[in-house]
Amino acid sequence: MDKNEAKTRIEQLRQTLRENSRKYYVDNAPTMSDQQYDFLMHELEALEAAYPEFLTPDSPTQKVGSDIDAPFGENAELRTGGDFVKRKHRYPMLSLGNTYSLSEVEEFAARADKALDFDFTYCCELKFDGTAICLTYRDGVLVQALTRGDGVQGDDVTENVRHIPNIPQRLHGDYPAEFEIRGEILMPYSSFEALNAERDEIGESPFANPRNAASGSLKLSDPEEVGRRGLWCTLYHIPAQSVTFDTHDEALRKAASWGLPVSEDRRLCHGIADIRAFIEHWDTARHSLPYATDGIVIKINELAAQRALGYTAKSPRWAVAYKFKAEQACTPLLSIDYQVGRTGAVTPVANLAPVQLGGTTVKRATLVNEDQIASLDIRVGDSVYVEKGGEIIPKITGVNLSLRPSGALPPQFPGLCPDCGTPLVKQEGEAKWFCPNRDGCPTQIKGRILHFLGRRAMNVLAGEATVDQFYDAGLVRKPSDLYAISKYQLLSLEGWQDRSAQRFMDSLAQSKQVPFERVLFALGIRFVGESTARDVARHFGSIDAIAAASRERLLEVSDVGEVIADSIYSYMHEPANIEEIERLKRIGLRFSAEESASALSEALAGKTIVVSGNFTISRDAMKELIAAHGGKCSSGVSGSTSFLLAGTKPGPEKLAKCSKLGIPVLSEQEFRALLPTSSESGSDSQQLTLF
Ligand code: NAD
Repeated sequence: MDKNEAKTRIEQLRQTLRENSRKYYVDNAPTMSDQQYDFLMHELEALEAAYPEFLTPDSPTQKVGSDIDAPFGENAELRTGGDFVKRKHRYPMLSLGNTYSLSEVEEFAARADKALDFDFTYCCELKFDGTAICLTYRDGVLVQALTRGDGVQGDDVTENVRHIPNIPQRLHGDYPAEFEIRGEILMPYSSFEALNAERDEIGESPFANPRNAASGSLKLSDPEEVGRRGLWCTLYHIPAQSVTFDTHDEALRKAASWGLPVSEDRRLCHGIADIRAFIEHWDTARHSLPYATDGIVIKINELAAQRALGYTAKSPRWAVAYKFKAEQACTPLLSIDYQVGRTGAVTPVANLAPVQLGGTTVKRATLVNEDQIASLDIRVGDSVYVEKGGEIIPKITGVNLSLRPSGALPPQFPGLCPDCGTPLVKQEGEAKWFCPNRDGCPTQIKGRILHFLGRRAMNVLAGEATVDQFYDAGLVRKPSDLYAISKYQLLSLEGWQDRSAQRFMDSLAQSKQVPFERVLFALGIRFVGESTARDVARHFGSIDAIAAASRERLLEVSDVGEVIADSIYSYMHEPANIEEIERLKRIGLRFSAEESASALSEALAGKTIVVSGNFTISRDAMKELIAAHGGKCSSGVSGSTSFLLAGTKPGPEKLAKCSKLGIPVLSEQEFRALLPTSSESGSDSQQLTLF
């Protein structure tokens, strides 16, 4: 490559990296894999080293990727930048040098050996795949939380961070008067899956991976919603300038003793052999962690050594990240299915020749939408690369063009709904094609019924197979039809017996107690997820007030933007929807906040109850039952626990703690005996007959 070619390539690389950095940090919607991004970054570093005359201070190699350089992300929900106060970091928050090769880790160790003329050790840690956070504690109290931002200044997300349950507001022990501690905000897989399932249900695009979901959630404007997202924090660094410890490990041990969440999955290493063993162990063991990790961080442990080595413009010289290669496989794409969802959106799904990836056999992968198929130039018959990164659902990330069969043509996105044959439509600004036959397309109808019955909506004991059965028998086309089904009709369907039919009928009757905010969610208004439904229900108080609201009034609700307001407004101006709401009202569903006050008794007033194990009803239903009788649930056993409600397989640690503290343990039967009988609960007797 001559000098001119190098210059052109450098410019190309900088542009590609800047574009993708924006998609990753600001939009939270990357389109390139991390590994591809890192390889391009390494190529740029190598070219700038070979041609230093082209090195500029604004090159991506010299700057920390920033999440604050634009006011809005692609997702309407993710209002980054503009909404938070920016504050300067006391010490810059930098990135980490990274490598995918063990020999480069050895080079890092050799450089440190050469530069330091005293003995030192390494502290190896997990590289948590979330979003960085810097916490400040003054007199043992959390006073500030900043995101990394551009490394120099970050967004003040203190209020949001106060709602992350494992971040202590107050410390104990011999903490310094004031100090900073840094770490990562993560979204465990379980929370990630639940969040994406909900987004999918309401027609919003899912987050690409837990990292993006964590970073998007941390920047929400409603701190209570942040609290509901199931975020989690782990802390791994106290800036050496701010404390007087000798080693990094000692600082972390101290931090843990003050009550801060510090991972114990770290090890002191005395040389490259120890480091290798740590990497090899976690390369496999990380698959059983409940959250995503993308590598190992190797840090020089002695703070004097860290100070001696110092920093480059972008990262410390005393640490390096060894990144795990994304798990990838190459396998033939056999065919593409086009699936219609509840909202009518059509999603292409790839059928693959089965291939082993990360311990599971992968046969299907999402292709997201038509644009994604075109941008990756995917054709049926191609050998495609499938990756499992932080995310559980595999993704197609590219095509091995050298294996393309001759004559393979780009797939034709269907013009008609694969389910009902109605011509598909694509609205301006939408990436997806939709089936507009809302009231006639079986998949959409069944999807809406299933959503209505769902655990977080009306919580009726019925799944996909039951809904299919009801639909096929012509019993159900809209939610109100469910309440007209008789036990006699159920018993005439295949597989139903007296017990199961009674359980369903009870469960349906019980759904009439579901509070208004969940009924609103159950209606399945596009873009109205659980938290939006809650906010809208609380703001207006009744369905009639929502139906009468103008777009402007709807926009007054926090976190309701143009898209959501338009969606609610048009839903409420569709006569068929209003008729259905009226039918559901007559059936007795709760359509106002007052009707939702569902206290059944005060039998558990003043009791703090810890629930553990499995019950005859779901754990969420059990917690609701406790609340309806005036009790309070708490997650951990402590001196203030009134009793442990133990189902089958209760947590052994909880049982042990109860026996240590002398706290009673009640079985489900003993617990139910504490509650009044159904006859004492008047009009709410239905609720008790179910439990
Ligand atoms: P990074 O994520 O590679 O590493 C630095 C970060 O690691 C720190 O800021 C910290 O938040 C985190 N970390 C986790 N565990 C840690 C521990 N135990 N000790 C110290 N730090 C720990 O770097 P980055 O600057 O946040 O992001 C750059 C990376 O992001 C790139 O290397 C690339 O992989 C990815 N990226 C991808 C795209 C894309 O399009 N896919 C675009 C931009 C950036």
